[in-house]
Amino acid sequence: MKKYRAVLIDIDGTLLDFEKAECRGVQAVMKLYGVVPDHNKVARYQEINQNFWRRYEKGEITRAQISEGRYPMFFGEMGVTVDPEECERLYRQHVDSLIILIDGAKELCHYLAGKYLLYAATNGYSKSQRERLRQAELYDYFQDIFVSQDTGSQKPQKEFFDYCFARMPGDISREEMIMIGDGLTSDIEGGIRAGIHTCWFNQSGKKNETGIQPDFEVKTLEEIKKIL
Ligand SMILES: [Mg+2]
Repeated sequence: MKKYRAVLIDIDGTLLDFEKAECRGVQAVMKLYGVVPDHNKVARYQEINQNFWRRYEKGEITRAQISEGRYPMFFGEMGVTVDPEECERLYRQHVDSLIILIDGAKELCHYLAGKYLLYAATNGYSKSQRERLRQAELYDYFQDIFVSQDTGSQKPQKEFFDYCFARMPGDISREEMIMIGDGLTSDIEGGIRAGIHTCWFNQSGKKNETGIQPDFEVKTLEEIKKIL
């Protein structure tokens, strides 16, 4: 077993169940514009949103461009014109207020914080992510919380991790760090580029067709305790 000293962990889809909150938020926005929020429409929104996020991870667009673009594109397919700011405001209200922990999240944070220096590393809005961790009663487990809005770059970019490393004790080597997360193209790709170990949280047993190879793969958060 490797001797790790610092653990970086993703928030959405790893500690907090983002999908349910997202679904609720998207449905509220659809209702606002008189669109029936059925399953297929939510799925189409998620597809559009994920494409925006992939482009953001590649550095092709900014975080602001995600907010400006995703709802107009989604509603545009139905011929509905929307105010992106209004959409985001309503959406965020729902996402920020519906906090659902992934099974074992609190126990894992408690366990990791007792053994390692624990850091959150997330792509998103600083205020929103911090508030969600507070509401989930996870905030105090972290030494620091790194959010892409503050870092000026995002996972999987190396610059994001450089920002984190610069704020961690200088005597910790890359060999002694591990990144845990559900995102192959963000968390795992980013950890690999930064030269640290990686653990992919693959809750739904997705097939990995990306060619991105994590050091570890787990299906439950509980399993992480066997590695760390
Ligand atoms: Mg995630």
